[in-house]
Amino acid sequence: MDIHAPGILVAGGGIGGLAAALALSRQGAQVELIEQASAFAEVGAGIQIGPNVTRILRDWGLEAGLRQVASFPHALLARDARSGRTLGQLPLGERAERLYGAPYACIHRADLHSLLLQAVQTGAVPMHLNQRLAEVQARGGEVHLRTEQGLARRPALLVGADGLWSRCRQALGLTEPPRWIGHLAYRGLIPLSAPPAEPVVTVWMGPRLHIVHYPVQAGRALNVVAIVHGEPPACPQDWDHAAHAAHLFQALGPIGRPLQQTLEAVPEWRLWALHDRPPLTCAAQMGQGAVALLGDAAHPMRPYLAQGAGMAIEDAQALAQCWAGAGSVPERVQRYADTRWARNAQVQARAIRNGRIFHAHGPVRWGRNLAMGVLGARVMDVPWLYRGMDLP
Ligand SMILES: Cc1cc2nc3c(=O)[nH]c(=O)nc-3n(C[C@H](O)[C@H](O)[C@H](O)COP(=O)(O)OP(=O)(O)OC[C@H]3O[C@@H](n4cnc5c(N)ncnc54)[C@H](O)[C@@H]3O)c2cc1C
Repeated sequence: MDIHAPGILVAGGGIGGLAAALALSRQGAQVELIEQASAFAEVGAGIQIGPNVTRILRDWGLEAGLRQVASFPHALLARDARSGRTLGQLPLGERAERLYGAPYACIHRADLHSLLLQAVQTGAVPMHLNQRLAEVQARGGEVHLRTEQGLARRPALLVGADGLWSRCRQALGLTEPPRWIGHLAYRGLIPLSAPPAEPVVTVWMGPRLHIVHYPVQAGRALNVVAIVHGEPPACPQDWDHAAHAAHLFQALGPIGRPLQQTLEAVPEWRLWALHDRPPLTCAAQMGQGAVALLGDAAHPMRPYLAQGAGMAIEDAQALAQCWAGAGSVPERVQRYADTRWARNAQVQARAIRNGRIFHAHGPVRWGRNLAMGVLGARVMDVPWLYRGMDLP
């Protein structure tokens, strides 16, 4: 079957793909989406979304839904994982709203995914589940694709939102695999009997490790992620494994009692092996001709600035703006790639730098603790990021 579709095909129904389908359909574009899974599902973990992202969700009419399911932390606390000492504090809450015009939120991935999915369904975007993209050919400003299940399309634009191991990027000649970064993420959720009175994001930093926790599900659970150095997995593409707490505690080494007690309260751990790509170096890595890449397909990043999903959502908004503008398809894709690549590269680089700071040992750790104590919010805030992107 070969169908000539005048519209846009989004490959991938994760947070990035749904955000793209929503943003583009809101501009009046004819959009359809394919997803390899037989049902929409998201892993049981939380994410933080900064004001740069909640502002876009507000523009898309999702703020009321966000208010019901997210948690809105008052502050970000940096603590030493061994001594338990508070090193620095960045007020969020009202300060984020005042400075950046939108809230800082913590949300379960499944909740964000279903907010986006409901909005996409309201826009009547056709979604084809159980369709695994197998072949993509992009030549002379045209793109042809086929799924393993036999669906074929020749869309005006292919949006590659197919994640870390993207097949769409190969159509642009981008064939390097993602790189294993040597870090393992253990993730879990602790049920809470009542929402915390003063919700906070806490980052515990120690030599070659850090732990982050914050409330999600409107305060009904505490999301915990512990990052340690470790061995590469046998099969990198199977990234989500059941994990043993004993292995985590062994990798962590000595940690302070309050942190230990929090980690011991996690009923079940999942393990992710972390991969990224080096920061983007040019616009062509985000799109060319009739193919635009978005989210982890274009710029998978270390989670140490908490912005991977955020950048996918910014990408989606920029793509929709560029699509609504004048010019041929390749010109609009070029405008999108020009708008997005440098900001994504900056976020990727900052995430790498944060990882080094969080995991510091020896004199660097000492200097970090001193700087956070003396400068506090000034070293922890990221105004250029939270103010949002410049739109085309
Ligand atoms: C430990 C950890 C903590 C994180 N914390 C944060 C955070 O606090 N804040 C934040 O913003 N980000 C965070 N992130 C990053 C964030 O999770 C990702 O950047 C984001 O989910 C990427 O979304 P995506 O839609 O681009 O890719 P994905 O979520 O990977 O979605 C890709 C979709 O494409 C589908 N697909 C893949 N291949 C095919 C194919 N061949 N055919 C059809 N469909 C296909 C997949 O099934 C999937 O549904 C974190 C990541 C990790 C690992």
